[in-house]
Amino acid sequence: MARVELRNVRKVYPGGVEAVKNADLVVNDKEFVVLVGPSGCGKSTTLRMIAGLEEITDGEIIIGDTLVNDVPPKNRDIAMVFQNYALYPHMTVYKNMAFGLILRKYPKQEIDQRVREAAEILGITELLDRRPKALSGGQRQRVAVGRAIVRHPKVFLFDEPLSNLDAKLRVQMRAEISKLHISLQSTMIYVTHDQIEAMTMGDRIVVMLDGVIQQVAAPLDLYHNPVNKFVASFIGSPPMNLVEGTLVASNGSVRFKDESGIIDLEIPAEKRAALDGHIGKRVTFGVRPEDMLENVTQTAVEGRSIDAPVEVVEPMGSEINLYLDVGGVSMTARIKADAEPKVNTNHVLDVNMDNVHIFDADTELTII
Ligand code: ADP
Repeated sequence: MARVELRNVRKVYPGGVEAVKNADLVVNDKEFVVLVGPSGCGKSTTLRMIAGLEEITDGEIIIGDTLVNDVPPKNRDIAMVFQNYALYPHMTVYKNMAFGLILRKYPKQEIDQRVREAAEILGITELLDRRPKALSGGQRQRVAVGRAIVRHPKVFLFDEPLSNLDAKLRVQMRAEISKLHISLQSTMIYVTHDQIEAMTMGDRIVVMLDGVIQQVAAPLDLYHNPVNKFVASFIGSPPMNLVEGTLVASNGSVRFKDESGIIDLEIPAEKRAALDGHIGKRVTFGVRPEDMLENVTQTAVEGRSIDAPVEVVEPMGSEINLYLDVGGVSMTARIKADAEPKVNTNHVLDVNMDNVHIFDADTELTII
């Protein structure tokens, strides 16, 4: 069983940078877990500690049933795929894939069987005699994955494996790695800074910031129930709109009002209980672009609509990204392409108030 557990793991680099702070995480057997966050948040360090490439300062790492703190990388039964592929340029694809097994003195026949089987899975059988320089980026990437597959490891670790590919190939390889996960039924831990990659590939996602795990959850759970403003803004594309303002009670209702006076929205009754203690206080209001809905008659609804000038219209095909200037704050809406917003003209959008978020302005934690 290839479960991976981090218990209170910490990493302080020489020089004092605390790259990972008290990380607790369980990756279940056969699970695909993605570590995501902005550059420098500690993703790679976490992965490299699991691989044994980086010593841990405090805490415990367990792979399967074994505490691996003092187990060297080669004995951890893991295989890692790197961003730069790290292929040997003078070796053929076959040799690149076989090399790790040759070093481990596997019988020749077994090596051959494993290499051919991995090549088959990845659709690179016809490339086995080529050298890396005669391969495209996507093919090199497959060879790097193949080299991991032949090891039959307990756990696959991926460190931004798609970053060097162009956008189209990245989308294709993303799906291939997901399929690979299904067919190999292995535990995989995958690092990326790209939230779309995380959302589309992960069974669960670990969102990190400044060395701290912010939230661990399934993709849609993260999207719908972010624990704080950072997770809310990091997950989702285009990102969630965030507006500073105040919660105001009036005539039995609670409203969110921004500083410009343009936004005055009524919070649904069933959400009000959660706002106790926050009335009259400064908060951040969050609404996703897809929850800013086209108002067909262009007639503002009291307590629900935002009526503001259009800054930019971005046609996306079936949809439009619409940027509104809401008192100096830019807000994005994603609406159907049949709407006809005009730049520098006011446009009315209805906010889907069932899906809005409110964050504490000081702690940035989610209130609703
Ligand atoms: P990420 O993978 O999320 O971009 P890293 O894990 O690479 O982040 O880095 C986390 C933090 O640790 C960063 O501040 C980075 O500068 C620092 N760091 C990474 N590697 C080293 C190192 N070998 N020595 C000192 N600091 C490092």
